[in-house]
Amino acid sequence: MKIKFLNRRQDTFNYKIDRACVTCGNEFKGRYCNVCGEKVMELYERSILSFLSGLLNAFTFLDGKFFNTVKLLIVKPGQLSKNIQEGKRVPFMNMLSLFFVANFFYFLFPIFDSYNSTLYSQMYQVGYHSEIAQKTVTAKLDEATIAFKDFEETYNSQSTNLSKSLIIVLVFAFSGILMVMNYSKGSFFFNHLLFALEFYSFQLLLIAFLLANLIRVLVKVAFYFGIDWAFLLSDFTFTSIHVSLIAYF
Ligand SMILES: [Zn+2]
Repeated sequence: MKIKFLNRRQDTFNYKIDRACVTCGNEFKGRYCNVCGEKVMELYERSILSFLSGLLNAFTFLDGKFFNTVKLLIVKPGQLSKNIQEGKRVPFMNMLSLFFVANFFYFLFPIFDSYNSTLYSQMYQVGYHSEIAQKTVTAKLDEATIAFKDFEETYNSQSTNLSKSLIIVLVFAFSGILMVMNYSKGSFFFNHLLFALEFYSFQLLLIAFLLANLIRVLVKVAFYFGIDWAFLLSDFTFTSIHVSLIAYF
């Protein structure tokens, strides 16, 4: 998908004449120098509007690439990293930028906590591990003379922040697992890293940001009309959506 209003200018560029590159002196035809990649500066690029649109492009949102990329991510998960592996890079956002944009949204709208786990869930919901957690917490409380409630609050807020910064660790861990699983194919770590970045971008952007907020809005709208759908905001809903979307991916 291209955004029409940003691409309305007709291409009047003369591709036939010989040009000398202003940066490296190479002679070439076309819009870009085939030695150093310098772009021929056109008249319109000297306008303030074009200069400012460059700023928007720097954020990669409005140059169409962001929408191309997200559309492909939704419609054909896995295709994005495949395209980049094959060298088709121009129509899409850089994979790392995508991952950071996804993280940015996830940080801004922290509704979904699948990567996080509260003190309560650590202590009572994860089987054998919970026993260790309970002992550790009791010891800590004795030692630090801090009330459980305060401890829990601090724990939850710190673990939320920590878990968000640790997503990058998950990406590398997942790449490593893929590398081991596909060792016989002998493909580059780069390929697995791309796939892992796409996988986590998909989760952060679609599940953590889009769907979670969609549900939140839905619950608010329903509440406005006197319907109580607050149960939709449960861990169960988000986990179910998360699991189904991962299966879809
Ligand atoms: Zn050049």
